[in-house]
Amino acid sequence: MEKYDGKLLVQNPPMPPLEREELDRVYALPYMRTYHPSYESAGGVPAIEEVRFSIVHNRGCFGACNFCALAFHQGRTVRSRSRESVIAEAKKITELPDFKGYIHDVGGPTANFREPACDKQLKYGVCTNKKCLAPTPCKNLKVDHAEYMQMISDIEALPKVKKVFIRSGIRFDYLLQDENDAFFKKLVRDNVSGQLKVAPEHCSAGVLSCMGKPDFSVYQEFRRRFFELTKSMGKEQYLVPYLMSSHPGSTLKDALELALCLKRDHYAPEQVQDFYPTPGTASTVMFRTGINPLDMKPVYVVTEYHEKQLQRALLQFNRPQNAPLVREALRKLHREDLIGTSPECLVRPEKSQTQNVRRNSSRGRSDFKGRCKNTARKRGKR
Ligand code: SF4
Repeated sequence: MEKYDGKLLVQNPPMPPLEREELDRVYALPYMRTYHPSYESAGGVPAIEEVRFSIVHNRGCFGACNFCALAFHQGRTVRSRSRESVIAEAKKITELPDFKGYIHDVGGPTANFREPACDKQLKYGVCTNKKCLAPTPCKNLKVDHAEYMQMISDIEALPKVKKVFIRSGIRFDYLLQDENDAFFKKLVRDNVSGQLKVAPEHCSAGVLSCMGKPDFSVYQEFRRRFFELTKSMGKEQYLVPYLMSSHPGSTLKDALELALCLKRDHYAPEQVQDFYPTPGTASTVMFRTGINPLDMKPVYVVTEYHEKQLQRALLQFNRPQNAPLVREALRKLHREDLIGTSPECLVRPEKSQTQNVRRNSSRGRSDFKGRCKNTARKRGKR
């Protein structure tokens, strides 16, 4: 309870998570699986196509990243529907008149969670002083993908189903904890729709620690095995990493570290999420106070809009419209060596400078050294 503006604000304790039978009852209700008819006159809701043929099989998340509010509204104790309930919904989907054979997702907040993180959690509740997965997985964590895998296979076996995709985020650190790689293999073989979304969020150790995420080496290991399996199965499919700029703890230098990492991996993100404070989260406390409430140490926080823009532009350094911001960020960091036309540079110089190079190189003279000069020459020839 908190006094506010002459009144008393009362915050009720959260409702306990629904048990499996209760969740099954909720999902057995006769939903229409479409938008309200009032949207019809506006041409409908295009996003319905994605969710209409998708199934939610769980609630809650024990990943509990520091910036995510999901653990506060669905809880850290994972609950899931029974296989029978999920399969019954899949059958209903196959009977929809415009079903084309594809189930777009069997997921939830985190696709590959089916059970609470450990047995202890059921008796004593979730630990308040530590997380189940980060910085390293808890020794009490139970890891098992068998039921999830079986459920996906059962859906695949239904008449009219051609493919079942998993498009919700896979918690890759949890996946790697599974000693049995049967699910990983099945995922790569059958359930990736060309691109698999995962959420490393950053690569800098300091930022990942503020986010409550595992070390970047865990993502690299997952990535290595994903592509190894993809190759061994003769497929062409990709990973789409979710990334966040300006999370508390992230300096311009950290953003550059991530930009260089993306460059190394030849990955140009379509979307980057800029940190936004979410209600009740540890990251929001860091943003507001400049202190990490988990260890009470000061944290660097970007609040100035322009620096936020610089950090974000660095992560999308290849976009022409970001070039002025990228150059500005690199100059601020005294990394002018990354402005140029050589393969290791993040951004080309300003137009006037490039033209000078061309002019000079066509005369056989250049103030630019090394590969910048050679590239300019080649361009001149072309
Ligand atoms: S004991 Fe470990 S797995 Fe269980 S709730 Fe606590 S941190 Fe999570």
